[in-house]
Amino acid sequence: MKLRFLGTGASGGFPNPHCRCENCVAAREAGGKSIRMMCSAMIDDELLIDFGPDLNGACIRFGFDLADIRWVLQTHDHGDHLLPLHATIRAASWAAQNAQPLTWYVNEVGLQAIRDGNRKSWEKIDLAIDEPGKDAALNIVTIAPWQQLTFGEYEVLTIPSNHGSAKHPMLFAIRKGDRSLLYASDTSELPDEVWPCVAEYGWRFDIVVFDHNDGFQRAYSPTHSGSAGVLQEMERMQAVGLVDENTLLYGTHLGHHSNTIHEVESARAQALGYDIAWDGLTIEV
Ligand SMILES: [Zn+2]
Ligand SMILES: [Zn+2]
Ligand SMILES: [Zn+2]
Repeated sequence: MKLRFLGTGASGGFPNPHCRCENCVAAREAGGKSIRMMCSAMIDDELLIDFGPDLNGACIRFGFDLADIRWVLQTHDHGDHLLPLHATIRAASWAAQNAQPLTWYVNEVGLQAIRDGNRKSWEKIDLAIDEPGKDAALNIVTIAPWQQLTFGEYEVLTIPSNHGSAKHPMLFAIRKGDRSLLYASDTSELPDEVWPCVAEYGWRFDIVVFDHNDGFQRAYSPTHSGSAGVLQEMERMQAVGLVDENTLLYGTHLGHHSNTIHEVESARAQALGYDIAWDGLTIEV
């Protein structure tokens, strides 16, 4: 399983284009791994997590396109993760040529956002919503927390995240063959019952990607996590057998308000036994 980070920044990216705070100024000066687009990630060049607003820039930055993407798992509908315009620009009848048919797994709030954001072209899009078996360029399938999905060689468990007022935000457990990944951006502390419940479904993770929005400033905020919170979640996962000493841990979704340049944040994390992801980082397990 190959995981590629396409964006590792919080809402607005890092540096935020409107901001001249100390951290944004430092990131602009440092460049390289300190330049973070808004969050998304790709697995084996065919499964995308979050159809976000920075994907166009990520494709140009890293020199690839999205035509081979077959599936998209949408964590939630916040604007830094969901750009509704992707529905129109992927639709063969409107824009995309020589692209694979695509299935976009999204909750009902996200579906409404996609509808609202594509009003002008909605009738012209080659689209199917919750119609299994229909041969459309773009298939939207609505999902909810605690659902098991299977598609291609993948198995997915949708896990409810704790993300303030967001409606039905989700983390994803993703398995392909004997390799598995937990993608957990945009969450604060998980309720006690969550990890034991995931364990009951029979999961164990080779890679954990966790929300690191708040850096080393605080364990949790109402919507996000920082280092101490991430390590607490890992302990809780280890207690029920979801992770072990071989599990790779990476922080993502870094906010400019709580983090500085990559090299500093990464050194702090490495001292605690894990690392901070950067845009373009590829991990193979
Ligand atoms: Zn976010
Ligand atoms: Zn800033
Ligand atoms: Zn969010």
